[in-house]
Amino acid sequence: MFKIFRIFILLLILAAVALGTWRAKTRSVEWKYTLPVNVYLINGDGSDVAAEYMRGLKLSDFKPLEAFMQEEAARYGHASRASIEVRLGGILATQPPAPPQDGSVLKVIFWSLKMRWWAFRHAEIKGAGQQVKLFLLYFDPALSSRLAHSTGLQKGLIGRVNVFASRDMASQNNVVIAHEFLHTLGATDKYDLATNQPIFPDGYAIPGQLPLLPQRFAEIMAGRMPLSENKAAIPEGLHEAVIGEKTAAEINWH
Ligand SMILES: [Zn+2]
Repeated sequence: MFKIFRIFILLLILAAVALGTWRAKTRSVEWKYTLPVNVYLINGDGSDVAAEYMRGLKLSDFKPLEAFMQEEAARYGHASRASIEVRLGGILATQPPAPPQDGSVLKVIFWSLKMRWWAFRHAEIKGAGQQVKLFLLYFDPALSSRLAHSTGLQKGLIGRVNVFASRDMASQNNVVIAHEFLHTLGATDKYDLATNQPIFPDGYAIPGQLPLLPQRFAEIMAGRMPLSENKAAIPEGLHEAVIGEKTAAEINWH
């Protein structure tokens, strides 16, 4: 009996969360007002390198995200409407809950709820209205040469992004951050999960290019620029990335 009661309460909470989420989702891509994007810095591996690196980060390090969104919006004829404002939310001393290793749907739903609850408690925002929260976890590249998958949740407008604590990697970090940020707005992945190869045509920056390969730009939700049938390169920075037609439609740039 008690168990049924607990499930009932949980369902009520889920329904309330779902309603709030639906509102947040539609408003975040209305593009009537500037959308604040708060970035919080977190030491991912507890290293001195990450701690030192985070202390040196400034708002200007994340400005390329704003420029990228504005330039791409302009290409789609939304110069004045579609803008974001990056805000530096400071260094957080705790880590957000880690996503489940296996992809079990229930575990993912449960983690997503925990993540939203964690974000609500730990990340302060200034002002009202819909705001995106991106948690950037910094790792010393000498300790981890590869990073676990980052996650952007459209539900709750939250991103959990793994990045490298290195100046050399700063512009590539911004590509990863932009990718996860766009997930929070409802953009979908456009690469083959098994091979990491961009999917044609939506994952190609210029699908009409002749010859088609190699491409010199990456579609941001494909994450890489296809060079040949089975080779693709990670862009150096956002200057080598574009928002493709399908992604633009997904974030309501009609
Ligand atoms: Zn993705």
